[in-house]
Amino acid sequence: MAEVESFQLDHTKVLAPYVRLIGSETGPKGDVITNFDVRFVQPNANAIGMAALHTIEHSMASLIRDRIDGMIDFSPFGCQTGFHMIMWGKHSSEEIAKVIKSSLEELASDAFGWDNVPGVAEKECGNYRNHSLFGAKEWSKKILSEGISTDPYERKVI
Ligand code: ZN
Repeated sequence: MAEVESFQLDHTKVLAPYVRLIGSETGPKGDVITNFDVRFVQPNANAIGMAALHTIEHSMASLIRDRIDGMIDFSPFGCQTGFHMIMWGKHSSEEIAKVIKSSLEELASDAFGWDNVPGVAEKECGNYRNHSLFGAKEWSKKILSEGISTDPYERKVI
């Protein structure tokens, strides 16, 4: 069986919320991508409900791109505790944590309404009925109140 980095992580040792640099990889043509574990809630202690997680995913697709160039993907973990983020080029956990924090602040703000959530029409989404902006905002506020650490094992909140 192939070794998968995220399954080597001891999920009982981490302290969420955090941004963890998983690593950088160079492709055969020399292009570099960087992977991050963006963990919003404590593994095996909490999990974001699917509708809220889904709306966070859609919202972050544009909120992150408004703040940083080179995002390839921001996808939820099946365990519903956070997201996997893939970027073109090299980036630090600090840089990404600041982008995530600022994005969640906008998502949680009163100014951010349904009109700001992209891709939620039936023809744009595979499960358009399963969204909760209320849940997305409440989880964003909780994550922000706890602070986002740039280290998975030690609280280094930005
Ligand atoms: Zn969708």
